[in-house]
Amino acid sequence: MKLKCYNFFLILFSALTIVACKSDDSDDGIADFKAENRKGLGTSAEDLLSNDLYSKVTVELVYSTNFAPLQQTIDGLQDYLSTRLNKSTINIVRTVIDQPTGAPFDPDEIKEIEEENRTLYTTEDEIVVYVFFANGNKDTDTETNFTLGTSYFNTSIVIYEKTLQDLEASGNGDLAVLEGTTIQHEFGHLFGLVNIQNDDIHPSDHEDPNASRHCVVEDCLMYFESSTPGRLARLETMVNIPTLDALCIADLQAKGGK
Ligand SMILES: [Zn+2]
Ligand SMILES: [Zn+2]
Repeated sequence: MKLKCYNFFLILFSALTIVACKSDDSDDGIADFKAENRKGLGTSAEDLLSNDLYSKVTVELVYSTNFAPLQQTIDGLQDYLSTRLNKSTINIVRTVIDQPTGAPFDPDEIKEIEEENRTLYTTEDEIVVYVFFANGNKDTDTETNFTLGTSYFNTSIVIYEKTLQDLEASGNGDLAVLEGTTIQHEFGHLFGLVNIQNDDIHPSDHEDPNASRHCVVEDCLMYFESSTPGRLARLETMVNIPTLDALCIADLQAKGGK
């Protein structure tokens, strides 16, 4: 009996020591207050959609001068989030930063920019999403193949704002539609679409066999046209931001969304 008690305290003590060491240890480069925002893509879908853990959501829009999103995009995002998320409060805040150097950006540089410029992180009752409007293109872009936005970690998005502005300038689409579509599509990935964590309720019905993690329904916000000529034609002719189809909405509702 005595031995058992001793073991219990030893185990408890070890656990406390490990916790204490972890909070002192900054060798991994991730401060504790950032840990909640350094998880895998799609793993916070339920936390974003439902009211279970967090009653509030805040979106921090980060950009440098000349790369701010349009007010129309921000209003559209507010509507989209209000329609889909079960939250009492949805805040969208802006953080203007000095123009980052080093464009075009590779994924590591995008993460470094976040490290340096993101000011808001998830707290006890509020989950926070970071969106950076980049002043440059993605490093892998070519004349015929380009990336408009990417979601990474569980609450991070980059919108290649310069690429969107260039597309509009060359007659390949309307900036408001390009911005709105890109940001709402990337949020869809944070919400786990399509089947990112292999837990959607009916993935075989709508995950596109030709574009994984995207929706097979052509009118859906989560559709991805993989051929460049097809994408350009689609962007050029788009007059409205596509909405989510019934199957994608059902997936969000299964995780506590509206
Ligand atoms: Zn996508
Ligand atoms: Zn869909």
